[in-house]
Amino acid sequence: MLIVTVDLDWAPEPAIEETLDFLQERGVIPTVFVTHRSPRVESSLGEIEVGLHPFFHPDSSHGKTIEEVIDSVMALPHNIPAFRCHRYATCNESNRQMMEAGMKVASNICTDLEIVPPFIDRLGLIQVPIYFEDGGYLWNCHPLTKSFKPAEEAITVMNIHPMHFVVNTPAFDYMVQIKRQFTREQWIGMSRQQLDHLKYQGDGIRRVIVELIDASNETGSLIRSIAKSPRFSTKIGKAKVLRARH
Ligand SMILES: [Zn+2]
Repeated sequence: MLIVTVDLDWAPEPAIEETLDFLQERGVIPTVFVTHRSPRVESSLGEIEVGLHPFFHPDSSHGKTIEEVIDSVMALPHNIPAFRCHRYATCNESNRQMMEAGMKVASNICTDLEIVPPFIDRLGLIQVPIYFEDGGYLWNCHPLTKSFKPAEEAITVMNIHPMHFVVNTPAFDYMVQIKRQFTREQWIGMSRQQLDHLKYQGDGIRRVIVELIDASNETGSLIRSIAKSPRFSTKIGKAKVLRARH
């Protein structure tokens, strides 16, 4: 079973549109972890799952303290009580306060292509480990022509970043170099033309992502979202749009 998740990471709107359009065409209901307001995500709140992607760091645009970060992200429209921390930056206190804010599922452990079943952590959060992350796959220099045999029974979680998918990143440093050319404002405001200019034309991470999703579809391996997975649905309850506490 493959669960497709997307970390927004302040991606520009055209990159979010291209990624979600692709998943929609393949019949995939993604779980999107949001960092900021996105018209494309918000217009799809009835069809996709939306959780939160807080960044707990003094340099975070979400705020300087745990409390400030949680207030910022809870104000983003979302419809499931699930979160994943940007850069997996987490600690007991941020987890505890996210739970107090209503979160029930966390996805803060990223393996390198290992199947680790979901588990309940010491606080009582359902932790859903990641099997495949685009950035981690590039970081570990795995081949970009690899063929995947999807897991039929086990839950495997894919984590896609819209910018890696759209740019078709061929190597970890390729994206690092691109990021250095843009300020935060320029990055989030990138136009479709600018994105097209950055696209890598050779073998890149996009082919690997497409192959893993298509292989799961072809073998009849179920593609499910987090809240629709039998393992979590009863604990999460019926999805409804949650908004700010204030
Ligand atoms: Zn992130």
